[in-house]
Amino acid sequence: MITEIFRLAEGQEDEKIQRAAEIIRAGGLVAFPTETVYGLGADALREEAAAKIYAAKGRPSDNPLIAHIADRSALYELAASVPDWAERLADAFWPGPLTLVYPKKAIVPDGTTGGLKTVAVRMPSHETARKLIRAAGVPIAAPSANTSGRPSPTTARHVLEDMDGKVDCILDGGDVGIGLESTIIDATGPIPVILRPGYISVEMVREIVGEAETDRAVEHPLGQGETPKAPGMKYRHYAPRARLVIVTGGEEAVMERINGLTTEYEAAGTPCGVICTEETKAGYRCGNKKVIGSRKRQESIAHNLYAVLRQFDKEDTKVIFSESFDGGQLGQAIMNRLKKAAGYHIIRA
Ligand code: AMP
Ligand code: MG
Repeated sequence: MITEIFRLAEGQEDEKIQRAAEIIRAGGLVAFPTETVYGLGADALREEAAAKIYAAKGRPSDNPLIAHIADRSALYELAASVPDWAERLADAFWPGPLTLVYPKKAIVPDGTTGGLKTVAVRMPSHETARKLIRAAGVPIAAPSANTSGRPSPTTARHVLEDMDGKVDCILDGGDVGIGLESTIIDATGPIPVILRPGYISVEMVREIVGEAETDRAVEHPLGQGETPKAPGMKYRHYAPRARLVIVTGGEEAVMERINGLTTEYEAAGTPCGVICTEETKAGYRCGNKKVIGSRKRQESIAHNLYAVLRQFDKEDTKVIFSESFDGGQLGQAIMNRLKKAAGYHIIRA
């Protein structure tokens, strides 16, 4: 298959989006920008279209897909029941980077939900995504448009790196905004349970509904035989090819520890990388330093995380040491991705 790239140049957006929507209606695959990361879209109501997503990504078929909608009315066609508190969350954060999981109606094929009796639904805020969903006239199932296990794509170039020849077209809408996947909340129980942290933090959810919990699988590696509520949480994710190690502790101590490690590794002939910030860059003595962003603008760290991991893949780095980025609105989401990318390899400085 030849992958076409539709650049969304001014004045031509609508025509390109219409062509992409026709591909979705015909059962094909379209990668498109959202405010979180690029998605790999297909008709959520056609089992065989969803099957193409799994094949293109190399994604295990028990890892369900999120259905993207553009209008609230579409929710009630997919979800069998919606608790009051979930309505309030949708009122507060839709359109936006929030996914809610509901009991599903029969119209949603098992092939889209990985055999689960629930369906995950999100209403993205990105204009291109919304126009595409409306033009297609169906909910669009869209996981991140990366090869399974690799860092999620935040530019059309990242999508092409993984999906060239595997999807019908890529809508190139430039860089995404947030750079981390949506917050996923289980809306099948009495209170919200965060299954995957994202831009919408647990505190923001509590402000709307009073109480909220975070699923254990968000912070901890799963034990043998444990099944997470979001099946995707059990797979290694976001991983660069090099071994990634997170160093935690006070700023000075972390820098000193990383300097010690990179000096040692490089002396032994192992090329090292360092993930640092604008504030700390000057303090590292060796290793291939990459600035992920500024601690004064935490959103810059979220935005650049995947691009930095992908960049390391193009270079001859064998071990990457990263500072940690806990705290603040995005700390839980950034650290969740970073820990998974590191296979939970964390050392205290
Ligand atoms: P991705 O779209 O690649 O970011 O992955 C979607 C994530 O949503 C995966 O971690 C899935 O396990 C999770 N997910 C999708 N549908 C459901 C569902 N019905 N119940 C729980 N988690 C879900
Ligand atoms: Mg993904």
